[in-house]
Amino acid sequence: MEITTAYVGVGSNLGRSEDIVAHAISDLRAVPQITEVQSSAYYLTDPVGNVDQDRFINAVIKLKTTFSAEELLAVLHSLEKKYKRVRTIKWGPRTLDLDIELFGDHSLESEDLTIPHPEMFNRLFVLTPLLEVLDDDNVFKDEVIKAERSLAGSQYIKKLI
Ligand code: ATP
Ligand code: CA
Ligand code: CA
Repeated sequence: MEITTAYVGVGSNLGRSEDIVAHAISDLRAVPQITEVQSSAYYLTDPVGNVDQDRFINAVIKLKTTFSAEELLAVLHSLEKKYKRVRTIKWGPRTLDLDIELFGDHSLESEDLTIPHPEMFNRLFVLTPLLEVLDDDNVFKDEVIKAERSLAGSQYIKKLI
């Protein structure tokens, strides 16, 4: 069976965000088709878009999986549901948002899934934690480094201890 290294972006700015993120990571670890779950540090970041809302806790999780990207997305959606994510305003506050940023070296675009995540190269809250866990031989590595450098300083992001 094929094993893929995937990178999942996690964000929360509603409820006990750090606990929610930690619990979601534990839940991923408990899925038999998911192994070697490793999290970046947690970061405090400014929200994107024009909605007035609290800062986010963000991290990027590296994992290995035998799932397809679509199957992994379904698991992520079920976790969002478990932590009572309610989809209201676009880019509004949420208890838990789980996005697939990268899925191995794949590029794909379907009705409900685009990989790499279409916004990841514009978001320091993805790029900075991603660089902590990204494999050296990932095909997007150079692009990630370049994008991170060009955005550095333009978006608020603070590593939490
Ligand atoms: P953004 O996509 O800009 O980060 P968001 O995370 O708030 O915004 P959601 O409402 O969580 O957006 O997701 C909307 C839909 O995006 C999901 O139902 C999913 O089908 C689709 N989607 C497309 N590509 C991806 C991806 N790489 N990871 C997660 N969801 C994706
Ligand atoms: Ca998102
Ligand atoms: Ca999402």
